[in-house]
Amino acid sequence: MYSTVNEISGQYLNSIPKGNSFRLTSQEFQVVTNSRMFSSQTLYSENTRCNCRNKPLLDKEGVHLSTGCAKSGFRHKTHDNIVYFLKELMGTLQIEARTTKLNVFSTMEADPDGRRPDLEMVNPQGTDRAMLIDVRVTNCNTSRDKVENRHQAMDVSYNEKMAKYSRVAEQSGFDFLPFIVSSTGQIDERSLAWVKGQVQAKFVIDGEGAKGADVDKRMNFWIKKLSFLIQRSLARSIIERSKIIFYDQHVIRNHEVAEQFMNDINHVA
Ligand SMILES: [Zn+2]
Repeated sequence: MYSTVNEISGQYLNSIPKGNSFRLTSQEFQVVTNSRMFSSQTLYSENTRCNCRNKPLLDKEGVHLSTGCAKSGFRHKTHDNIVYFLKELMGTLQIEARTTKLNVFSTMEADPDGRRPDLEMVNPQGTDRAMLIDVRVTNCNTSRDKVENRHQAMDVSYNEKMAKYSRVAEQSGFDFLPFIVSSTGQIDERSLAWVKGQVQAKFVIDGEGAKGADVDKRMNFWIKKLSFLIQRSLARSIIERSKIIFYDQHVIRNHEVAEQFMNDINHVA
């Protein structure tokens, strides 16, 4: 399978459904499986346009509805879910992570774009500087010939975030980390390495030593959780948006058929 391009992207398939964080409904599971296999979504019908401003033709796999479309706020919800996931993870490491009203740059006048990163890690391990994090879900094109470009797509996102934030963060006394995940469930290696470093440091503080196996076990738990969260968020976007768009389309088609029928009758008469 193409989507097993790395060991992280399919983590949700290897999990025992313990607790709600590790469960998908049958419909959600069907949607994520279709995405993974490049199959058509059940609710999809051909030649349908999205109801967002640009009205693009919808793809059968649901790429536009899950990651390309800003309408109804689903794309934003996936992003925010990941921000809160990171906050929760840091909480278990006794690292304070702030999300609200970030106005962290010393001179906002010098920052006309009003850059507000998603998270501020107040007291990360291994440094006396706070760390700013900005999350992005990279919109990976899931067509087969683009599979090889996924790493590249994530690199582009990473570099864009660095260009936007790193210098101004540095000037204001912060470290900066882009946290990039792909719609196919990969996590950028640099983002992951930082999280792993923090988990490792917590083991040292707790006097348990940084035994590789224990750190890996803890990391696997969080990676699985994130893997589920991404897939569930994307599946919900596809399901909820499809219900509205394809329902509307059926109503329009029924209306057209009815109109045609009446025309034909009148014609005969
Ligand atoms: Zn759209």
